[in-house]
Amino acid sequence: MDNDLYSENQQLRRQLRAFVSQARSNEQKMRRFQEQELQLIRLSSLVQLINTIIYDYRTAFGLDTVTLTLIDPSYEIQHIMEDEGVVLEDHPELIFTATGDELDAFYGVSGGPRLGPYQPEVHGFLFAGVKHKPASMALMPLIRYDELIGSLNLGSSKPERFVEGSATDFLQRLSAVVAICLENAANHERLKRVGLTDFLTGINNRRFFDQRLSEELMRTQRQGGSLGCLLLDIDNFKGVNDTYGHRAGDQVLKGISALVRQQLRGPDVLARFGGEEFSVLLIDSDASVAQEIAERIRSAIAEHPVQVENEQVLRVTVSIGVAVFGGDAPGQGLLELGECLIDQADQALYQAKNSGKNKVVYFGDMAQSP
Ligand code: GH3
Ligand code: MG
Ligand code: MG
Repeated sequence: MDNDLYSENQQLRRQLRAFVSQARSNEQKMRRFQEQELQLIRLSSLVQLINTIIYDYRTAFGLDTVTLTLIDPSYEIQHIMEDEGVVLEDHPELIFTATGDELDAFYGVSGGPRLGPYQPEVHGFLFAGVKHKPASMALMPLIRYDELIGSLNLGSSKPERFVEGSATDFLQRLSAVVAICLENAANHERLKRVGLTDFLTGINNRRFFDQRLSEELMRTQRQGGSLGCLLLDIDNFKGVNDTYGHRAGDQVLKGISALVRQQLRGPDVLARFGGEEFSVLLIDSDASVAQEIAERIRSAIAEHPVQVENEQVLRVTVSIGVAVFGGDAPGQGLLELGECLIDQADQALYQAKNSGKNKVVYFGDMAQSP
């Protein structure tokens, strides 16, 4: 009897020790996850965030491979990363996909984490560029507002590390936090960029141009003098994209922005007007100065090939429309004046395009229709 009680007691003690040890290990695990969550929440730069997810998690969770797949249909995140100096080719762990189709099909409607052995034919696309494929993995869909935005893929060389049917509470929570943080950081970068600069070329955007146009028109009205306005459009730019690809097209846009900037004086304003069009405000410039600067820009671009990828250079030309505001427009509001000046430059640009491209046309020289 005593013996029975004694052994039952021993067994209960063993069980209790096992429970306590399990609870301790869970508590440690929770603390580790919480520390990682806090670190993520503190980061606001998208690049830092992605670096933390891909590289710090490997160490923090004792993993062998971490990859991150992001759905980036308009190349926006890729542009942000490149803009911040990241060479995407150096980070095979970061995988971009233009459509979410493959991920959607993989996770299906249930959309929960997937744990288990790595199978190249099924999971290969989630570890595509990395050298050491995992033996087991935990794949977590990143979801925001019911929409799949990517997948966080944790891999271990130990087959027993991630097995089907294990508890996934911590992982689910972590992937929810990662998804929120990624979205926040992307929004933060967007806000930073939509402000007043053009995201691709780094020059001013249309909003900045419109503000400055009003200010300069007001100044010209008050102080006299004249204000030159150029609209510049790259010739046959669609052909550049079609022949050399969208990335080469982007580099041409950057190269042209830099060439135009070099031809301008300090206070002049250069902006990306939209697509492959640029606008310029020439402070204190009459018609002859404005045409001279426009011609200088046109010939500089025609003479300097733009460097694109793989040491390749491309030659492009631009057409430019010139208009000038001379301070004499009583009764018109600034907005109307601005629209009128841009419309005149646009008409001149249209004429330059219609008369053979790679040309400068001044609105004042155009034959006015009756
Ligand atoms: P034109 O000489 O008459 O101006 O012809 P075009 O081919 O330059 O003009 P079109 O308006 O037909 O095409 C402009 C192209 O510019 C189409 C569009 O895809 C491309 N584009 C606009 N924004 C960007 C961009 O940010 N990057 C790249 N790579 N292409 C862009
Ligand atoms: Mg155009
Ligand atoms: Mg064009």
